Amino acid sequence: MSDAEAATSSTETTTETVENVEKMDEINEPEAKRRKLIKNSDLDDKKNRLEERLGSILCCAVCLDLPRAAVYQCENGHLMCAGCFNHLIADARLRDEAATCPSCRVEITKASAIRNLAVENAVSELPSECQYCGKEFPRNSLEKHEEQMCEERISGCKYSRIGCPWRGPMHESKQHEQECPHPRRSGAEVMEALQVIDQQVADERKLYENIFELLGYEKITFNDLQLKSYRTEEFVHRLYYETSRFSAFNNQWLVKAKINNSQKDPTQCSERDITYQLILKSRISCPLNINFVILRGPFGDMKIHPRIYRFDFTEEANESPYMPLSLPDTAECNRLLAAKTINFRLIMFLA
Ligand SMILES: [Zn+2]
Ligand SMILES: [Zn+2]
Ligand SMILES: [Zn+2]
Ligand SMILES: [Zn+2]
Repeated sequence: MSDAEAATSSTETTTETVENVEKMDEINEPEAKRRKLIKNSDLDDKKNRLEERLGSILCCAVCLDLPRAAVYQCENGHLMCAGCFNHLIADARLRDEAATCPSCRVEITKASAIRNLAVENAVSELPSECQYCGKEFPRNSLEKHEEQMCEERISGCKYSRIGCPWRGPMHESKQHEQECPHPRRSGAEVMEALQVIDQQVADERKLYENIFELLGYEKITFNDLQLKSYRTEEFVHRLYYETSRFSAFNNQWLVKAKINNSQKDPTQCSERDITYQLILKSRISCPLNINFVILRGPFGDMKIHPRIYRFDFTEEANESPYMPLSLPDTAECNRLLAAKTINFRLIMFLA
């Protein structure tokens, strides 16, 4: 094996071989490979850089990532990002156990946990790599760079509305748009794409039309309610949420909520969702056709996408099925579970 072969086939990165490799490569190797090898030689430097060392000190003790927003600490000073912190508390609530710090096992609660502003600020000054171009920026300006400035960020063609599926780096979009065949397509060919867009708009519009129609009902009422956590009496106590009774349309009602209702053990799954049902507590003689919708309300902070449901309550059927709360993601669900109570507004319409 010649020296050059030995050097390029080896992936070791001791200083000596890397120096050799670089010299050889200047003559023999294609550009991409050379860049990679130089990068390897930087690796040792990089490991020792102050930012890297600080990063490994300031990272979240659970996910080992550098926190993007709030940073919490246990009473012994172990750091956790907001997502992991909420997850720990939510998990403990589901298991009916006290949440503990993963590093030192001291008990943590929402009330006793402290935010660490110095760490939050320090982390926001640490450099982070842009996911598109790989250049480094302070974390507090990275989002703006990735969303608005980066020439490598993925963008679509301006003719996407008439059916162009092209997606690529921002700096190539101008070139593509000049060559894009879609503006020269016939009206008939473009129709298909327009129909898809029409359908999306129609679906969205339906929600609003539905709300305005409901607002025309004779009987409308709203209640600002609070879900509190309870345990079932089963062998494995399951967590559920319930409001106290409230009155609407001269009857007594309550709302019940469950976590991952379709699963046996929600703690075994990292995906979370909340479903709720409306229960009629009074006896009725004639059926009640109820439309209802949950909103964030004046005292709540859940990021909910309101959805209107309908259920016809009768003497026999006094519980609606469980309906999704339509939260954006698992993180939002955990955030709600980590809090002791969930506040919301329930609007009911009687047909
Ligand atoms: Zn974390
Ligand atoms: Zn700790
Ligand atoms: Zn970039
Ligand atoms: Zn195009």
